[in-house]
Amino acid sequence: MKNGIHGIIIIGGGLSGSYLAFKLKEKFQDLLIVEKSKVLGGRLCTKPVGSGMADYGCQYISPKSKELISLVSLLEKKSLLKKIKISPKKHVYISPYGMNKIPQYLSLGVPSIINSYVNKITRKTGIWEVKVGSFSYFAERIVLTMPIKQVSSLIEKSLVEKYTLPKSNYKQFYTATFLANRAYSKNIFDNSESLSWICNNKLKGLFNEKNVYTVNFSSELSIDYKELDYESRVKAMGKILNFNGFDSIENLDIHYWKHAFSSKQDHISHFFDEDTQIGICGDSFSIGQADGAIISSDKVYQKLLSSNSLED
Ligand SMILES: Cc1cc2nc3c(=O)[nH]c(=O)nc-3n(C[C@H](O)[C@H](O)[C@H](O)COP(=O)(O)OP(=O)(O)OC[C@H]3O[C@@H](n4cnc5c(N)ncnc54)[C@H](O)[C@@H]3O)c2cc1C
Repeated sequence: MKNGIHGIIIIGGGLSGSYLAFKLKEKFQDLLIVEKSKVLGGRLCTKPVGSGMADYGCQYISPKSKELISLVSLLEKKSLLKKIKISPKKHVYISPYGMNKIPQYLSLGVPSIINSYVNKITRKTGIWEVKVGSFSYFAERIVLTMPIKQVSSLIEKSLVEKYTLPKSNYKQFYTATFLANRAYSKNIFDNSESLSWICNNKLKGLFNEKNVYTVNFSSELSIDYKELDYESRVKAMGKILNFNGFDSIENLDIHYWKHAFSSKQDHISHFFDEDTQIGICGDSFSIGQADGAIISSDKVYQKLLSSNSLED
């Protein structure tokens, strides 16, 4: 770092931000990740549930692009991903230690500041100022990696520039994690009218002693639940869980996804502005989901490498 100015600040430590750090760290030392949550991972997220653990965002990776296929192959060699069969014709990759180990592995060795919500970015005399509350970090270049609505609102309140960015329609719903018995289903993945997704993390391959479930409530039910206070919401969810065959529910915890994932997306591959040295990547670009996150991150990496001023 020269005079308190970093080479590149990556805002967001999810899959795209950590993959960018992974690629850049081989050639470039002076990186910083600034992440709003208490852990890195973004929507590749895992949490303790009783004595076990559950993935409560992305459950598995099913790579389509050459960029993600190559990353999956590397992560498989490191035992961070494992191929499992989920139907006669479909194989997917899960992480036995939890999906959040992937961004944590990719970002190893790169300084990461957690619990730091970036509320403003400004550019003065060729340097970016990245504000976290009243504290400022400085960098020659920045890359934003969050869902595009969050990117747009940060840009709107920070900059005079108007960038043309994709518009993504993210699904929104509640997710719940809990320990339970469910006598009649021995499936790894399942669904019903009220629960668009049911996953038994133990059967999936996470190292769990007991059955730890992750379920997504349907978007319709989630809209109704949003209107309720916390206690009534949990009570209503409990009834639906019982109706779906769960009993002896313990350690119930819920999370609302405002930007879960978008489907059938085909957007521009990434964003990079040479003049102001700002890049934007993440799953709002390209074909979306984990593939979009990796493809766009790779494209921004190429731009940063070819950018004439990128020197250690
Ligand atoms: C329930 C669910 C199921 C999914 N299923 C699949 C699937 O089957 N297959 C698949 O490929 N994908 C799936 N996905 C999508 C996949 O998880 C995402 O596409 C991918 O993880 C996106 O990575 P990202 O880095 O682009 O974004 P994120 O993971 O969202 O990372 C952005 C990071 O930026 C941080 N951040 C945001 N704002 C700020 C700020 N102002 N300051 C600092 N930090 C900030 C966030 O905390 C986050 O860590 C699923 C997602 C969910 C939620």
